[in-house]
Amino acid sequence: MNVADFSGLKLRSLLEHAHIGVVIHNSDTSIVYANPTALRLLGLEYDQILGREAEDPSWYFIDEFSNKLAVCDYPVNKVLSTNSPLSNDVIGRFDTKTHEVIWYLVNAYAESASDIEGRFIVVTFNEISDQRHLFSYRDIVENARDVIIVTDAEQTTHPLGPQIVFVNRAFEELTGYSAEEAIGETPRMLQGKGTDRGSLDRIREALLRQAPIRETILNYSKMGKPYWLELEIFPLSNRFGKVTHFAAIERDVTEKTFYADQLEKRNEDLKALKASLEQMVEQRTRELSAANHTLHKMAHYDDLTGIPNRRSFMDQAQKVRSLARRHAFFLVIGVLDLDHFKKINDEYGHNTGDEVLRSVANLIQGEFRDEDVYGRIGGEEFAFALLTKDSASAEIAAKRLLEAISVKTITVDNQQIQITASIGLAVAEGANQANLERFLKVADEALYEAKDGGRNCWVLRCF
Ligand code: GH3
Ligand code: MG
Ligand code: MG
Repeated sequence: MNVADFSGLKLRSLLEHAHIGVVIHNSDTSIVYANPTALRLLGLEYDQILGREAEDPSWYFIDEFSNKLAVCDYPVNKVLSTNSPLSNDVIGRFDTKTHEVIWYLVNAYAESASDIEGRFIVVTFNEISDQRHLFSYRDIVENARDVIIVTDAEQTTHPLGPQIVFVNRAFEELTGYSAEEAIGETPRMLQGKGTDRGSLDRIREALLRQAPIRETILNYSKMGKPYWLELEIFPLSNRFGKVTHFAAIERDVTEKTFYADQLEKRNEDLKALKASLEQMVEQRTRELSAANHTLHKMAHYDDLTGIPNRRSFMDQAQKVRSLARRHAFFLVIGVLDLDHFKKINDEYGHNTGDEVLRSVANLIQGEFRDEDVYGRIGGEEFAFALLTKDSASAEIAAKRLLEAISVKTITVDNQQIQITASIGLAVAEGANQANLERFLKVADEALYEAKDGGRNCWVLRCF
């Protein structure tokens, strides 16, 4: 093969068009030539650089460990001091204003010439900023506690999903799959029967749109253990803006989800418990109020007839007595006893006797107003307490009551029963200092007199 003849090639023109930066130094390190790419990469004008060492106050060179480069370590000086070429040195240009670093891969050699003084040192460099950073992102990703998965963006339409191209250590720990096992597979390998179809569809749809997405899904480890993942997927673009990959940052939220579930369940349980307690309390309150009502009735009302009992009558009569004393009215205490009631029981039976007692109680209730005081104070004995202006009013009341009873025909089981009663009245003006027991005693005495007097009548005793 013939070697091509380059003698006609214009070296200068070649350098002017080259996409690699070329700086040529004299052996005294001053610059004799820099091609346009070199000027662009260094951010310098031609006038600035010619005859000088490449330097500018707005930046300085750093080595790959980010240490400022001493002038003696500049490529040109290194070639001169070591008398050997420089191969693939990484040098950064640190901008003191923006703190940005542009990284160069630098090569340098000395043009061989017999005369050392006349030698040129040629330094070539290209920018490799894309591949160089101040620190290792990979280290961060590798050591992150969150799971990081990178897939390609080529196969988003593939039914199994895009291919995994990178996983970090946290992925290996959580899933049980090694990086070797995972790379080349698709994230489908992590899904199982509990994985929500809706979530997967939303993820797929976001990938197709190349849009970021956040989801919480159920995945499965290599051993089949389910875990909840909160994941965030976002597209990665290359320098031309084309989406080439998707990165997923995933966090195991199994515990959080579990506790949230538990908490929700507990809340529901508590709500149900509260509702049933409230119901119970309501029911108990109703029962209690009914029981109270019954108790109150039992304490104050007579079981058989439903009118006030002896105790209630005495309480109420006491109040009437106080009123009589305060206002100097007459207090009338009347005791009413059914005549020959034993005979009713004997003739018609005890139950019929009870019915008769109820009828008489009804009658008494009808004769008095609600605010009047009366009650059943014994077996077939009733009593009343009245405030009157004079004793005659008491007799009118007694007469009316006896008449009402005697004219009443009580019908029990188709049997018509007539009954009479006798009344003893105790009357005193301004209640006369006497206590209620005394009133009752006097009324009883008057009652005996009425019985002796032939019954169905009243006897009044003033005292
Ligand atoms: P008197 O005219 O003298 O009062 O005669 P009496 O028969 O009414 O008098 P006595 O005191 O001898 O009898 C009262 C009767 O009342 C006796 C008792 O069996 C009856 N008795 C008392 N309490 C009740 C009751 O709750 N129900 C019934 N059915 N009878 C009662
Ligand atoms: Mg009696
Ligand atoms: Mg009697």
